[in-house]
Amino acid sequence: MTQYLDGYDYDAIHERAREVIANPKRLKKSAVDKYMNYYETKCSESKRTIEAAKAYIPGGIQHNLANNYPFALNCVKAEGAYLYDVDGNKYIDFLNAGGPTILGNNYPPVKEAVKKAIDEIGNLTGLYGEFETDLAKKIMQYFPSVERFRMLMTGTEACMVAIRLARAYTGKLNMIKVKGCYHGFTDQLIYEIRSIGTGSEAAVGVPDECLKYISGVMPNDIEDLERQFEENEKNGGTALFITEPIGQDSGALPLTKKYQKRVRELCDQYGAVLIYDEVVSAFRIGMGGAQELWGIRPDLTVFGKVMAGGYPGAGGVGGKAEIMGQLTAGLTLGKSNKVMAGGTITANPISCVAGYTAICELEKTDAHKKLAAAADKFTRQVADIADKYKIPAMIFNQESILHIDLNAFQHVASFPEFSRQEVEERIAACMHLMHEYAMAMCAEGIIVAGGNKTYINLQTIDVLDDALDAYERVFSQYE
Ligand code: PMP
Repeated sequence: MTQYLDGYDYDAIHERAREVIANPKRLKKSAVDKYMNYYETKCSESKRTIEAAKAYIPGGIQHNLANNYPFALNCVKAEGAYLYDVDGNKYIDFLNAGGPTILGNNYPPVKEAVKKAIDEIGNLTGLYGEFETDLAKKIMQYFPSVERFRMLMTGTEACMVAIRLARAYTGKLNMIKVKGCYHGFTDQLIYEIRSIGTGSEAAVGVPDECLKYISGVMPNDIEDLERQFEENEKNGGTALFITEPIGQDSGALPLTKKYQKRVRELCDQYGAVLIYDEVVSAFRIGMGGAQELWGIRPDLTVFGKVMAGGYPGAGGVGGKAEIMGQLTAGLTLGKSNKVMAGGTITANPISCVAGYTAICELEKTDAHKKLAAAADKFTRQVADIADKYKIPAMIFNQESILHIDLNAFQHVASFPEFSRQEVEERIAACMHLMHEYAMAMCAEGIIVAGGNKTYINLQTIDVLDDALDAYERVFSQYE
């Protein structure tokens, strides 16, 4: 049996999840002890400085992905394929800051363009600059569904603006999302995030009223989708359907083309705005994102990450001119039927020039073709190592997004045979094993994202053989 799976074959991935959940493998205790010792002896300055930071920063860290086990690392440099910590350790960067750094760290052409922009234009003006149109045009070149584009600072903001536009346009309130998808952390979208069945668990500090109009549907379940649209009709209709088009958590539970097509039909039938949240997939899954892959045109697309070339701030929304035309250009005073969106730092020279240059570099270097070929080969090789050590795993990729998942925690809640209590216990156990895995990978010289997600970038293509050796060292120490 090969562990390698087709990254778009939901049924096969889901079936394998059942097997992985039934036969959890873990690192030998001796390996866990060895790796814990690595952190104590080789990462002592990280430990000390993060501990000290706790007096100033809640928990000592601020980026979600910095939450490494047993403690966070203090990163002092990012260059090319590597990240470096304060203790002088060097790591292959399979984190890619959660996706944006697809060209590699501190990629010289983007850095030079940003420096030039700062020298020539400055850091921030508050006025219009032509660089804004350059980026918008470049995005529209690859996303024909985008007739107008509006820059924002984060994916979170962009999702917030997209739902506001959809509601203003339709005059309806209800939203449907796919359970487990992440659309930022605003009050109304912090529902059913990361794993299925979590409901409003993450919505601490959010009034219940904020979640009144959102409902979640099971991935790829067309009946559930139809039922929800019908249900909403009794209650004012559906304003919008929002999803990560490659599936929850960057494709951990891939959505199928058949499902996507039905979503499009139902949105048309019920007069709902279809929003693709391509924060991860735009310029990561090919130049035209998941919508090009599926051949489906959403009404609105949310952008982030790669579209600002790994620089701050990365967010934007684009789509049909008629819907986008509702946005204000600047602050309007008095009575207005326009949709408000703002941002002091929005559309600054740094973000726009970095994004524009990064997209041009992706074109010039033919990056996606190279990344897809390297990722397919590498993922298969990792799967062969899992086979060799008889570790049940879900190993697949969607271009340069790799899922090397030995625990399947995101699938647990989608098996109806488990009670909610069992789901919670199993997820907790899976999460612990996943953290141990990420800890082992890091001690062997590779930083991955959150434990089950692995991004490769243009620079890491040259170090994949070294990376493979690290996987061999880790997998050989499983029970
Ligand atoms: N949507 C998706 C699909 C994301 O992955 C993310 C961030 N991981 C966001 C929205 C939010 O983007 P940001 O972190 O820039 O606010």
